[in-house]
Amino acid sequence: MEIHREASFPQDVELLGVLESLIGKGSNELYIAKKFSDSPVTTEIRPPQTALQKLDQAMILRALSTSLSGVLTFRTATHREISQAGLSAQLKNFTPQDIATIVNANLDQDKWDEGQPHPEYHFDNNKLLAGKVYVDSQYALIRATSNPQEALEAFGKILHAQQDFYAHTNFVELYRDYFHQHSGHYPLPREIPLYQDALKNPQLRTILQTQLKSGEFSRAEFILKDLFHLNHDPNSHEMMNKDGPGRPLYPEAKDLAERQTGKEIEKFLKTIRKNFRIKSFFEKNPATDG
Ligand SMILES: [Zn+2]
Repeated sequence: MEIHREASFPQDVELLGVLESLIGKGSNELYIAKKFSDSPVTTEIRPPQTALQKLDQAMILRALSTSLSGVLTFRTATHREISQAGLSAQLKNFTPQDIATIVNANLDQDKWDEGQPHPEYHFDNNKLLAGKVYVDSQYALIRATSNPQEALEAFGKILHAQQDFYAHTNFVELYRDYFHQHSGHYPLPREIPLYQDALKNPQLRTILQTQLKSGEFSRAEFILKDLFHLNHDPNSHEMMNKDGPGRPLYPEAKDLAERQTGKEIEKFLKTIRKNFRIKSFFEKNPATDG
């Protein structure tokens, strides 16, 4: 089976390979079942009947290969742009290599076989508490590690999750509705408070505690529906995400993610100052300051 390899990013090529193997075998669930079950999956097992099955496999693969780089690069570009700008501005005395380590660890979270299967890394699938626990665990690692590289990578993972929070949850929608009810108009992107600040308003806090949710992402649905824009479930990641410029409320999510990144950088600098094992590594340039 031939796939058009026009992808410009290494992870697109990698993802195409995964998709090639998935479609060859059947649905994603079957792939997972095969990976983890003791009993071998027979070749007779096929994914549930869908309209897509009527399409020629080659046609599906052609569609995947052309739409994939768009789907992934928008998201990748946004994470990269937000992180790089904030890091370069606030971590002036970190080496370009340090910054690249952070940015790459951020982007790796979306790799199909690495960070991608973990919904808590992206605040997907309503894993809101698990996402917070994950972020806290990475800060705990930064506070305790004796390896500066590990600290930089943990911070990249934190940035990814915190940026995804605004793109994958309904936080923006909930705040806009709240604002509209009180003022009769909708807020500008920069008028929307960060999540932690919104919680300080008791009324908003109640709304967030009871109505905050995130989209459901499934690898099988992504391949069979999302890529063809056939997923219309309002609770799906496909319908809720603000991952790219083509999505509603993307400017709001991006503005929030940029400001959140600034806050996380301040917290990162504070955290490494408290870790005597790595503090001196990051103080190689005495002017480094947050
Ligand atoms: Zn993500």
